[in-house]
Amino acid sequence: MKYRRLGGTGLKVSEISLGSWLTYGGYVERENAVKAIETAYGLGVNFFDTANVYEKGAAEKVLGETLRGFPRESYVLATKVYGVMGDGPNDRGLSRKHITEQCHASLKRLGAEYVDIMYCHRYDPETPIEETLRTLDDLVRQGKVLYVGVSEWTAAQMTEALAVADRYLLDHIVVNQPIYNMFERYIEKEIIPLGERKGIGQVVFSPLAQGLLTGKYSSAADIPADSRAAKLDWMRKGVTEEKIAKVHELGKIAAELDISVGNLALAWILRQPNVASALVGASRPEQVEENVQASGVELTEEVLSRIAEIIG
Ligand code: NDP
Repeated sequence: MKYRRLGGTGLKVSEISLGSWLTYGGYVERENAVKAIETAYGLGVNFFDTANVYEKGAAEKVLGETLRGFPRESYVLATKVYGVMGDGPNDRGLSRKHITEQCHASLKRLGAEYVDIMYCHRYDPETPIEETLRTLDDLVRQGKVLYVGVSEWTAAQMTEALAVADRYLLDHIVVNQPIYNMFERYIEKEIIPLGERKGIGQVVFSPLAQGLLTGKYSSAADIPADSRAAKLDWMRKGVTEEKIAKVHELGKIAAELDISVGNLALAWILRQPNVASALVGASRPEQVEENVQASGVELTEEVLSRIAEIIG
């Protein structure tokens, strides 16, 4: 496993990281979840991602309980705040009250004294950005959070946050968590250039397009029973013949390189130096074993231009 600096920080994270959305505490039974997390750790993954909203805290519990078997300094643990956690008006968003309460609740569920990264899961137009940043800065000073991140904020929102942090000498955003894969490339336009200029590293989610880029779907009419698309209606709608045809073409390049098409998709993401880590999900330990092999795979200019012709 190779490690990269997270943006402009001194923190090193594995090129492949492991997330817990939908899977751990969700549709993956506990034994398999624990094995997948342990397998990742054993293969050099040092970066694990969760959120308070994933299965209403259940994902944090499984991840925290499993990671507690390993020395705390040996892994980087990230969680998120913003999503709806209850029926009350203050049970969501990025207010001082909600962030503080959720940070404490997350630490309790994780069984941790601190999280390495706290992400603002989305932008909150109903809370002044000064309030959010000052609260996160307080949590950093209290040692409960080490680094501040955002997820799916626009370039303008991040630019505003950087200016506010500068003005009040608050802790800066150093990491952003956007979607990025061969089918979803909006970050290339503004987000990556901003990250490069300002030292904000990208930790990209759904790098395998939720499994589509592994080639596991051979036809929209023939969805494997044990796949995410079989479990989730909205995911099945995204499995189109057009995307499957592209994955088929990408598979030919992968075969020539003697790697899996999923590894090709991850190596393509890691060609971007501003990407610190490709954040995968895995419903089985074998998937982790396959995905980590993408670390260190270099794609030539010729291969990259053949990929560009296919994905457009
Ligand atoms: P991926 O694109 O990596 O999809 C993961 C899914 O693809 C797995 O659960 C599995 O599904 C399938 N898969 C993975 N590897 C393989 C393989 N080698 N062979 C076959 N199938 C495979 O990422 P996710 O969409 O799961 O996102 C990753 C993480 O990113 C999340 O866990 C979460 O932590 C984070 N995230 C953050 C968001 C945000 O808003 N900040 C939003 C979404 C995710 P199956 O076996 O069930 O088919």
